[in-house]
Amino acid sequence: MSATEATIKDYKNLVGGELVGGVDGATREILNPATGQVIARVPEGGQPDVERAVAAARAARIPWRDTTPGERQERLLAMAAVIDAHSDELAALESLNVGKPQSLAAEELPICADELRFFAGAARTLTGPSAGEYSPDHTSFVRREPLGIVGQIAPWNYPLMMAIWKIAPALAAGNVVVLKPSELTPVSTLRFAELLVDVLPKGVLNVVTGDGPGVGAHIVQHPEISMVSLTGSVGTGKWIARTAADTLKRVHLELGGKAPVVVFDDADPKAVAEGLRVASFLNSGQDCTAATRVIAGPKVYDAVVSELSAAAASLVVGDPAEGMQVEMGPVISARQQERILGFLERASGSGAEVVTGGSAGREAGFFVQPTVIAGVEQTSEIVQNEVFGPVVTVQRADAEEAFRLANDVPYGLAASVWTRDVGIAMDAIRQLDFGCVWVNDHLPFLSEMPHGGFGESGYGKDLSIYGLEDYTRIKHAMIKLG
Ligand code: NAD
Repeated sequence: MSATEATIKDYKNLVGGELVGGVDGATREILNPATGQVIARVPEGGQPDVERAVAAARAARIPWRDTTPGERQERLLAMAAVIDAHSDELAALESLNVGKPQSLAAEELPICADELRFFAGAARTLTGPSAGEYSPDHTSFVRREPLGIVGQIAPWNYPLMMAIWKIAPALAAGNVVVLKPSELTPVSTLRFAELLVDVLPKGVLNVVTGDGPGVGAHIVQHPEISMVSLTGSVGTGKWIARTAADTLKRVHLELGGKAPVVVFDDADPKAVAEGLRVASFLNSGQDCTAATRVIAGPKVYDAVVSELSAAAASLVVGDPAEGMQVEMGPVISARQQERILGFLERASGSGAEVVTGGSAGREAGFFVQPTVIAGVEQTSEIVQNEVFGPVVTVQRADAEEAFRLANDVPYGLAASVWTRDVGIAMDAIRQLDFGCVWVNDHLPFLSEMPHGGFGESGYGKDLSIYGLEDYTRIKHAMIKLG
């Protein structure tokens, strides 16, 4: 299907409070992954765009630092109100650009507003040790200060929500921001930025679109940027950590995951399948905490495989534009589709059993069927590597072996355990090396609780007061008395 010029919308960057095109005028076409059709054109930035954004941030840095937490709270509350007032429009853009079901896109907007409201309040609650005379004749106290200019780099799977996870704590703490959305899904963030022109002081938030080498790398290398925060893949995270070492900037990394789902023999297979129907396939499985590796006890294994396969096969897959009944859309790009189908081909070629799904399923758009694969080896790539698609593996293991298999991957973002026994659940929480462990559920998150991984899933926390603290530096002040 080819788009007409009239349906292609042009977006601009937000720099210094103005909506601007790219410095050299280059643009990039943005696709709807459900159809492959062009839906928008956005500036394709480079180093000069990063320089211009940093200059705008520099001009805004001191005035924003010197606002009171209460003043920053008001601005963040106003941002939340913008989300509320435009939630239908923003959800429609998210659905169109990411290929998300309309129902999922609609659910994300109130969560975005809630996160902004959480950080609006949290801005006023930072704590530390009491000021006091820890040495005779000296009073000491601690200041929590913003870091200055923060560079933030977002992924394509939850574009607006991931941008807000970054912007909200950074601004609440008194930093100014240069944000780069994913080059695949910048549309909702650019529209949100457009709506913020009169809400935030000029230069406090700057949004620059472009790809990793063109814009992201220049953010990471910029000497005036004090911290870089990435949500993205492990490879990008490692490159950023290495490169940021040259300017010794602080690095905050929310990277990939490969979440295990440890199912004990006393669990209810139907409840597991019902939970994973959402947790494995939401957003086409393109979720860093997605339930991707089921490790089931010997007595419950067969029932888990059949219940989960039936649940996966029952999902309504389609172009989200077809209506609210669509539960799973495409994956993000032709490249990602090819990558996922490659994993599936190699897994079945090496003897794994594709119980349901296993192919694209539709001709137009970038689709992959909800897929369940059994009989996989722990060392196989489909168990060890993040597929980032609607694919779940199932392994059989007894209670002792289960934790070893669960922990035996490079990632450490999220895990779940399914059991009716509170003792087993408590032990599992201790044994699992993941930044979040759910019991009898998988996927929910909260503004008040930290989100972040161990191992190759990165370091630093999003959400919660820990997320806010990550965007501050600590200064000791010591005053000689008399
Ligand atoms: P990606 O690493 O390809 O890209 C992420 C962002 O980094 C994009 O904006 C990209 O342009 C930018 N980038 C790429 N190379 C860069 C470079 N050299 N310098 C600076 N920036 C660069 O990841 P993606 O494919 O967009 O997102 C999917 C990944 O994100 C998955 O691995 C997923 O697990 C992870 N993710 C993690 C979380 C979390 O909270 N831990 C949340 C969502 C997604």
